[in-house]
Amino acid sequence: MNGTAAWPPVYDDEYLPAPDQRYWFPERETMPAGERDAFILARLRATVRWAWERSPFYREKWTRAGVHPDHLRRLEDLHRFPVVTKEELRAEQAAHPPAGRYVCIDPADVARVHGTSGTTGKPTVFLIGRDDWRRIANAHARIMWGMGLRPGDMIFIASFFSLYIGSWGALAGGERLRAACFPFGAGQPGQTLRAVRWLLETRPAAFYGTPSYALHLAEVAASERVDPRDFGLRVMFFSGEPGAGIPGTRRRIEEIFGAACLDSGSMAEMTPWMSNAECACRSGMHLWQDVVYCQVCDPRTFEPVRYGREGTPVYTHLERTSQPMIRLLSGDLTRWTDDPCECGRTYPRLPRGIYGRIDDMCIIRGANVYPSAIEDTLRTIDGFGGEFQVVISRERAMDELVVRAEYSAEVARRAATAPDLLQALRERMAARLTATLGIRPIVRCEPPGTLPRTEFKARRVLDNRALYETALAGADDPPRRPGRGAPGQA
Ligand SMILES: [Zn+2]
Repeated sequence: MNGTAAWPPVYDDEYLPAPDQRYWFPERETMPAGERDAFILARLRATVRWAWERSPFYREKWTRAGVHPDHLRRLEDLHRFPVVTKEELRAEQAAHPPAGRYVCIDPADVARVHGTSGTTGKPTVFLIGRDDWRRIANAHARIMWGMGLRPGDMIFIASFFSLYIGSWGALAGGERLRAACFPFGAGQPGQTLRAVRWLLETRPAAFYGTPSYALHLAEVAASERVDPRDFGLRVMFFSGEPGAGIPGTRRRIEEIFGAACLDSGSMAEMTPWMSNAECACRSGMHLWQDVVYCQVCDPRTFEPVRYGREGTPVYTHLERTSQPMIRLLSGDLTRWTDDPCECGRTYPRLPRGIYGRIDDMCIIRGANVYPSAIEDTLRTIDGFGGEFQVVISRERAMDELVVRAEYSAEVARRAATAPDLLQALRERMAARLTATLGIRPIVRCEPPGTLPRTEFKARRVLDNRALYETALAGADDPPRRPGRGAPGQA
């Protein structure tokens, strides 16, 4: 029943815990980390073997990297397998349409076709097997149980159907949980106003959508003189954006709706995407490691970082036979911990959720440097002209961070008669930046109008080290807001 013995696991679709039971699968959710590792390793080996035998994509990739399923003897061996990037998947699908050579099931067993909206290039195709879809429903139901949802609860799904797999995952999980699911959707003209009316009318227990949509819904409700607390929601769970994990946004949603706000979601490719999800304690998303194995990795080496450290999630399916993802690089940024959660589950957590992208971040002499932090700091300094450029190089053995900052027209005028002024400004900038960044940059003060003007922040950074060119080839989506790719918008 727990799917512990055989792989791929088979779940009993009739199983339900007693309503007052805290866990869906008590043993699996609370087992000591060492025991879970053994469980994960068995599933990993089965998944890797499955992909090796059925997928020329993986076989070729691993052969090039000099690894073989037999090399996976301990969990620590997993990082010998190279990461998969989203760009690689897109290229594979373009070369072998429609779904690439990593489908790994018989075409007759495909039950569902999903895809991305393709707004950032060629869309990605997802083919999901019939048995996989049942496993996805079971995993989501189990995780939604952990959120506090119970049979008979009504779940109002207020997100796009069609090309947004988030909606379908919430629906599958809710149905398996024996909740009453209302696939309301979103995106039609006037639909938000209708949502306000339907929510008042039906008073569901739970709401699913994106945080920004919930805030929009609240505005529409206010314009109708409706208090969102009158919807009577108990639980609001979100994915697709990082908002629900950001304390300020979470507080606001909870105040407006009077409901608990929970964060969830990994990537559309990783469906069951709820394998990152908060429990009712709301202490950061748990990594439901026996469903999808997630390692938070150093963005340079892709080796797992220690608990407490920051890195990028690298995901591996443990229950997928169709399009299994083995070490998919998310490119997101998070910090993980194995500190216990009040709920008693022993899964690690992401206490602050997913809060950025590694492609916005530069690692300089081991320190994580964000262009936004440089900008914030410079803007506090009197005499800064507003434009700056960051140049990272590796002249000798050491990384060098050069910040070129324009001074203001006022400073330019005064500097003509007070030559020390620029020196003082430069030192002030260097001191403040050192305090913020933890490393000492070389600051060059430039006259107003020297630096190229650009609309994109990212262009303000010139990384001459060419360090990431190959490693992060998959984290190369055009500029977009920080946060994980929304399920279905990957
Ligand atoms: Zn918990």
